Amino acid sequence: MISNLVGSEWRTPDVERSLPVYNPATGEVIGQVPLSGTKDVDAAVQAAAAAYRTWSRTAVMERVRLMFRFKALLEDNVEDLAAIITRHHGKTLDESRGEVRRGIEVVDFACGAPTLLQGRTMRDVSAGVDQDLYRYPVGVCAGIPPFNFPVMIPLWMFPLAVVAGNTFVLKPSERTPLGAARLAEIFLEAGFPEGVLNIVHGAAEAVDALLVHPDVQAISFVGSAPVARHVYQTAAAHGKRVQALGGAKNHIVVMPDADPEITVPAILNSAFGNAGERCLAGSVAVAVGQAADGLLGPLAGAAAKMVVGPGDQAGVQVGPLIRADHRDRVAGYVDRGVAEGASLLVDGRGQMSRPGFFLGPTILDHVTPDMAVGREEIFGPVLSVARAHSLDEAIAQANRMSLGNMATIFTQSGRSARQFREQVEAGMTGINVPIAQPFAFFPFSGWKGSFYGDLHVHGTDGIEFYTRKKVVVTRW
Ligand code: NAD
Repeated sequence: MISNLVGSEWRTPDVERSLPVYNPATGEVIGQVPLSGTKDVDAAVQAAAAAYRTWSRTAVMERVRLMFRFKALLEDNVEDLAAIITRHHGKTLDESRGEVRRGIEVVDFACGAPTLLQGRTMRDVSAGVDQDLYRYPVGVCAGIPPFNFPVMIPLWMFPLAVVAGNTFVLKPSERTPLGAARLAEIFLEAGFPEGVLNIVHGAAEAVDALLVHPDVQAISFVGSAPVARHVYQTAAAHGKRVQALGGAKNHIVVMPDADPEITVPAILNSAFGNAGERCLAGSVAVAVGQAADGLLGPLAGAAAKMVVGPGDQAGVQVGPLIRADHRDRVAGYVDRGVAEGASLLVDGRGQMSRPGFFLGPTILDHVTPDMAVGREEIFGPVLSVARAHSLDEAIAQANRMSLGNMATIFTQSGRSARQFREQVEAGMTGINVPIAQPFAFFPFSGWKGSFYGDLHVHGTDGIEFYTRKKVVVTRW
């Protein structure tokens, strides 16, 4: 059974229910995750609240010194963390290494706290009166990540929170809990005091206990759209600040002037990287005008040749999906797409017969926004191809979606690129890139139903989220 971390103690909660953790490449059970309840959550929050009294007053240079040590230890453990990710998530080792690297970049950013946490000051705002703005931590913060980036997404959250003087309770995904557990070991090894980071394993019950706990001040959530809405509404109703990042239905617009040599590999990466289990995955490719003519043949040919298999085997490009039931749900979308009139260009369902939770790259053509595959998040290696007569029509198709996480365009025209940038309703927008992922020093979030809150994740938004401002007015 995987343990919670409460203060300095690794504690196996006394729970009636637990869930298996799988190696999705084999279907083998590799661990058991406890479904912690209200009492376990309360113990972790109390440990965080006790640590807050000292940690919030610890000098910023001391907090940063520990953060630098954490960063150095993470660098030493890239391979170890990548192997853990691949083992229980399934993505390829290269994808896992990339995930760890992107997570470490947030720790790099957190090491800039002495600059990032500065306030500002204005003397003589009125005769003999000065005003000064100071930043303070908010208290105990909680983080609730999804399954698909078990190391990177926790690192979006707790390093910035703790470097700002907060203490933290992390509730990892019950499907991929091992990455966070290893991060916590490394965090303690770096020398952070007990209670600064606590881990509670579990699912909805543990989340709901955090959302209503009177001693939790801020909630960072990343996951599916319906749960993001629930988290936002519940936590806000209990007086907490909330950032809740939800699901995606990302469109890739391909103009007739796009260079196929760039576009084809980019679409394969966008749609099938991480087995499509990425909130920045391209889900619908909209071919504008004649763009489909030169695109579909090479795209289908290359997708059919992608190597599917266990993520720790050399040469594998597409790993398994997270669970058998999720794989079956994704395959169900393919059946539904065909039933609703889409044509099947590449069928990856042949991979379902092997052990593990596999589904190969699949491409459906002539998809419309009325079809389930054209409007709902699938979260698997299924690319829908839609057609549009013009860029205006392609942008309108993307903007019809209730979700607005990412959108990207492939074109050689600055005019088309600019129109797309100005008009597409997506918080993360790409031009000739497969995955428009903001770096750690920029804010990360979608628009519309993909996000509830106002301050995005990481970048200076992260600092704003994890601090509260006090203005002092002085006359001597
Ligand atoms: P999920 O919503 O099922 O789970 C996310 C977290 O919420 C988990 O920790 C889980 O334990 C908890 N949870 C699940 N159901 C709950 C409920 N009913 N009440 C309270 N808590 C609950 O998401 P997932 O399947 O783990 O992750 C995939 C989803 O996350 C996709 O929709 C994907 O687009 C999204 N995602 C979004 C981003 C982004 O930046 N916007 C990034 C990664 C993933």
